[in-house]
Amino acid sequence: MSGDRAGHYRILHEGDLRDYLAGLSGLRALLGGEPASWSITEVGDGNLNLVFIVKGAGGGIAVKQALPYVRLVGESWPLPLSRAHYEYLALSRQAQLAPGLVPAVLHHNDALALTVMELLEPHIIMRKGLVAGKQYPRFVDDITAFMARTLFFTSDLALSAAEKKEGIAAFAGNHALCKITEDLIFTDPYRIAEQNRWTAPYLDSLAAELRNDMELHVSVSRLKLKFMASPEALLHGDLHTGSIMVTESETRVIDPEFAFYGPMGFDSGAVLANLLMAYFASVGHERAAGERAAFEGWVLETVEKVWTEFARKFLDLWRAGATGDAYPPSLFTGDKGAARLETERQAYMQRLFADTVGFAAAKIIRRIFGLAHNIDFELIEDAGKRAVSEARAVRLARAMMVETATFRTIADVTGAARKLRDARELREWMPDLPG
Ligand code: ADP
Ligand code: MG
Repeated sequence: MSGDRAGHYRILHEGDLRDYLAGLSGLRALLGGEPASWSITEVGDGNLNLVFIVKGAGGGIAVKQALPYVRLVGESWPLPLSRAHYEYLALSRQAQLAPGLVPAVLHHNDALALTVMELLEPHIIMRKGLVAGKQYPRFVDDITAFMARTLFFTSDLALSAAEKKEGIAAFAGNHALCKITEDLIFTDPYRIAEQNRWTAPYLDSLAAELRNDMELHVSVSRLKLKFMASPEALLHGDLHTGSIMVTESETRVIDPEFAFYGPMGFDSGAVLANLLMAYFASVGHERAAGERAAFEGWVLETVEKVWTEFARKFLDLWRAGATGDAYPPSLFTGDKGAARLETERQAYMQRLFADTVGFAAAKIIRRIFGLAHNIDFELIEDAGKRAVSEARAVRLARAMMVETATFRTIADVTGAARKLRDARELREWMPDLPG
């Protein structure tokens, strides 16, 4: 049911989509009944694409079609349709490497920039669950398996140099999506840019401070360089809690259209950043008595376990089967070699941890001063309260980015997050904050 390249691109509205799907025997059989009876609903709440849920008597599917522009902004911001090809390629690769953790691809049409996927139901976007104060007991195990397996098996630790370079080449054309990240995450929040916004007036002076903070500018530029120039592994590229769909017992990673070969810490940092933002935002959301502390405790525990379990699984994969061209076994023979290699593995993870901390910081700052915000903060109606939550997150992020080396372990990160509840300390730092 895949590989159809026939036809020219056109945006498929409901009627066209019905006809198109009716012409694909496998999908027609899966949906069941007459095509006229299928319900078709556009549910895309993302920034870039159209997503339709199609349901028939026999079952349902999700259909994602790329638009030739950024949905959030409109036709004035063109974006290549080829991103649908890279998303399809990444989904297929992730399905092999991390079975059961991404939606199955049922059909893809490159010309139409269209992918038909398994319908995830009753899964919801994890970010929505976090805003509602829900805890997800499966999350740590699933997301760390996803990260460890997709990153390890596409790295030089697992692949031959030739395979690795073929992989880089296969995704190298996705540079327009990388450029979005390079601009919106690593550049615009630190300068005057038309698309920036923040919780004004409370964060005005903090925004100005960021624009004049040369240590921060150096740090974010180093991260940008690492993002551009370190093809360590196949990244998801946008691994925030809005790209994860969950139930209490299942986790699925969606939306890898930003996939490319980049630094691993960008993915692990994205997960941690979004959990930390959920933590800082929690105080601004309605929670039943007693549930707030439990939720916030769970989030910080999750931050810690996401890193420790990811590191453990990644190291286990490395110890069990390093078939790649990096660290040739012939250089690490005997007990002495084994011991030295194990020390080096620990050092490798320590470097990856520092990258993770830095990239997490960049992901936090962009959600507070850049174009794309998140509902964790946005749904805090009282702008003053929102600003306080955001300022706490920014203060942590600034430290994580500039003083990265002082965060030796993940407990240093969660410890610092906990401390930032002290609002008096915050007010000294930012006199514009309310109350
Ligand atoms: P975008 O690339 O525009 O951000 P997403 O891939 O994030 O698009 O999808 C947008 C929304 O569509 C998601 O937030 C989710 O609600 C819904 N969605 C996407 N894929 C599926 C799926 N396989 N099953 C059910 N809903 C989905
Ligand atoms: Mg999305």
